[in-house]
Amino acid sequence: MIDKELLTILVCPQCKGPLVLDREARELICKADRLAFAIREGVPVMLVDEARRLDLPAPATAAGAG
Ligand SMILES: [Zn+2]
Repeated sequence: MIDKELLTILVCPQCKGPLVLDREARELICKADRLAFAIREGVPVMLVDEARRLDLPAPATAAGAG
């Protein structure tokens, strides 16, 4: 269980913005970057490299890089 006070000190490592706890997914969400940081054994993994990308809103604009 993530403590509320812990959430107040956690910010996105990329944009330094606030994070939102997704209790069901047990992830910390940065809405600005659309990244989800996993919580492993109660410890948030605050690494951009480890973050999961949320569904991109419009893949139509994505350049087809194969
Ligand atoms: Zn961010």
